[in-house]
Amino acid sequence: MRMPTYRRGGIVALLIALVAGCGYALGAVGTAGAADEGRAKNVIYLVGDGMGRTHVTAARERYHGAAGKLAMEQLPVVGQVATYAVEKKSGQPGSSGFKPNYVTDSASSATAWSSGVKTYNAALGVDAQGEIVPTLMELAKKAGYRTGNVTTAEVTDATPAGQMAHLLARGCQGPTYSASSCQDTAITGAPLPTDDVRVTPAADQIARNTTVDVILGGGLARFDASDEEALRGNGYTVLGSPAAQKVATEGDLDGAVGERVFGLFNKGNLTIERSKRLHPDSAQAREPSVAEMTAKAISLLDRQSSDGGEGFYLQVEGALIDKRSHANDAAQTLEETKAFDEAVQVAVDFARKDGHTLVLVTADHECAGFNIVEKGTFTNAEAAAPPTNVDSGNTANNSDTLRTGGNVKDPSRSAGPINGAGAGNAKNFAPATFRTPDDPDGVEDGDPDASQWLTYLSGNHTGADVPIFGFGPGAEKVAGSIDNTDLFGIVGKALRVVG
Ligand SMILES: [Zn+2]
Repeated sequence: MRMPTYRRGGIVALLIALVAGCGYALGAVGTAGAADEGRAKNVIYLVGDGMGRTHVTAARERYHGAAGKLAMEQLPVVGQVATYAVEKKSGQPGSSGFKPNYVTDSASSATAWSSGVKTYNAALGVDAQGEIVPTLMELAKKAGYRTGNVTTAEVTDATPAGQMAHLLARGCQGPTYSASSCQDTAITGAPLPTDDVRVTPAADQIARNTTVDVILGGGLARFDASDEEALRGNGYTVLGSPAAQKVATEGDLDGAVGERVFGLFNKGNLTIERSKRLHPDSAQAREPSVAEMTAKAISLLDRQSSDGGEGFYLQVEGALIDKRSHANDAAQTLEETKAFDEAVQVAVDFARKDGHTLVLVTADHECAGFNIVEKGTFTNAEAAAPPTNVDSGNTANNSDTLRTGGNVKDPSRSAGPINGAGAGNAKNFAPATFRTPDDPDGVEDGDPDASQWLTYLSGNHTGADVPIFGFGPGAEKVAGSIDNTDLFGIVGKALRVVG
């Protein structure tokens, strides 16, 4: 990536020094026994990006009906995770100068579980002061585990990069070095020298630091010929070609072998499942699903550790749940949630057979204030006037600001269910409606008769807690209300890489 060669060695040397000197106990990796109770040989950590509790419920209802369950909902342990971030230069919770930001982004949240610290939005692998913090995947690698990182986003994007890069600003992805996208002088005071890892594009770091053995996802345009050379030099089987900007295909993935595999299937984010389904002859339809990438990553990571005691640590992200939620696109949000749940099923099937694998399924934050509203109703945003007090028996309970006008839908802002007529009108606040398996034949998506009515509050993340589901050794630790930074210790202890 257009950097002098001395920098590349510098990045690797710096990271090795950081991991070696991180201060966390790096325990021996042994076979499970009495002393290892609650400890796992392998951890598969699955993240539905932007997947709040309502995303899970709505996907369940749409695809399995009211009495059905998603794969993730069938896991025995359930908890909820607080996701807040902090402001730049904030202290950590409980310390002086602590300044929370109640709505996180994917970067801050990824740093919370990867490195166990609260940080500011856009920060990756650095704390709220901008100092580098080691990641669980670096610690796992150092302790002899094999590592994998699967995503439907660009592999340089926040959730995957949080395990394998350190950046002051998540926009610093590559391929060209950009001072404006990489520096953050609000944190560092003055611009950092360009050989500082924190201002080195994520693609350069990922191609050279060997933190992750199996890297599968999108983002080919973030990488170039020098990255491909670096990857091959580090022993990776490179599917497709960053140098030729030739994307890898599902077929390349099927045939992939090797200790280290790098495969990017789109120049940008991977393609939504709906588009692949509707255009089966397109080039995009040859991209693997997140479930297929998960199955292949497990087979690559597990097969090669079967002769030794070391297990693996795999992270899987269903990224497009978030990206379609930002767009308030309920149909694709739900289809991507279903695709992610199929990856969960792959992980659980492996874990049941293996018996020593911890599977955790969670999200980094909720996206867009997704809601299931009563059939035939509408949202406050669509109302001509705010809802009236329904507690008419006790007028003392009226709102302080007296509400008048009744709860009437404003037709100028709501033309009906937006899957049907009016879907293209940006002013249309109307709910999206979907048929579910509980509906009679003939009811279609977008019909007012469809039983599922969904709305969004905004186009941005919200501060709602997210669900977590667990299976396997140590899973009981995610029950109850936890914080996203707790996941660093829970996974780290399961892998015996955090004391
Ligand atoms: Zn988002």
